[in-house]
Amino acid sequence: MLLIDGRKVAQKIKEKVATDVTRFKAKYKKAPALAVINVGDDPASAIYLRNKEKSCADVGITSMRFKLDKEKSQEELDALINKLNTDTDVHGILVQLPMPKHFSVEKVLTTLNPLKDADGFHPENLGLLLSGRPRVKPCTPYGIMKMFEHYDISLKGKKVCVVGRSNIVGKPMGILALNADATVTFCHSKTDDLKAHTKAADIVVAAIGKPEFFDSTYFTKNSVVIDVGMHHINGKTCGDVNFSECQNKVQALSPVPGGVGQMTVAMLLQNTLELAFLQEEHKLI
Ligand code: NAP
Repeated sequence: MLLIDGRKVAQKIKEKVATDVTRFKAKYKKAPALAVINVGDDPASAIYLRNKEKSCADVGITSMRFKLDKEKSQEELDALINKLNTDTDVHGILVQLPMPKHFSVEKVLTTLNPLKDADGFHPENLGLLLSGRPRVKPCTPYGIMKMFEHYDISLKGKKVCVVGRSNIVGKPMGILALNADATVTFCHSKTDDLKAHTKAADIVVAAIGKPEFFDSTYFTKNSVVIDVGMHHINGKTCGDVNFSECQNKVQALSPVPGGVGQMTVAMLLQNTLELAFLQEEHKLI
């Protein structure tokens, strides 16, 4: 079985980003910069943010953290985003999710300048992706496409089954696969006979948010399986796929940890760099 090693692929992407950051700095006399907004005090977010900040430092991207107390209002958050939208020293903006309930993700996304949308979640960027002219791609699906590229897994003419239809993972994943000439099936919680769809596919992307939901009966020995799920249970991390049960029963499998999660962070760096070049080259901000 091929183990799809997210750590290895992410490391390769980070090395290339670091080289391009050096080129950027030499040309524009400043570093690409990512502003990270942390609203409230979700403990898991604190870990993710530290990880993102360390990864930025590793490749020479400046990261700036803006902390907003959970008592603050949507208007105060919008004001901060608007300030960063026009700051010429900030190239990417990321609002860490989840936020406390009285904040609106929709409002955040429409306030954000789409040219600084480091996560690739802005409706304008999703629209460009849908029309086959992507500007920034959502990090997780973009990272999965890079995994396929690294392991020479061509999607052309392949049947790709995406399980999960969220705006940040499932839908953009399916569109990227479609743009790469795959035949795509989207499955979700209302899908009838999920197993029939996953077994009929060459490639399955599992993104449902249910720990170890998929066992080997969902796949065939020829399946390529990408596990997007991320769960922390009793001090252990697992995905949506039961890794130990599926291991060696499919053709290729990405582990959790050490799979897609690594790629998501690497693609955040890549997106920040791409946005930095775009803004500086065309003097867009
Ligand atoms: P989400 O917004 O909760 O969406 C889950 C999707 O799965 C929904 O479309 C839902 O269908 C579908 N679903 C739920 N139960 C199902 C079932 N039994 N059979 C078929 N479909 C089912 O989740 P998300 O944000 O896309 O994230 C999915 C998982 O990926 C989570 O574990 C999350 O932590 C993880 N994640 C990991 C990374 C990473 O970097 N590794 C990044 C993002 C997310 P309906 O639409 O019908 O409700």
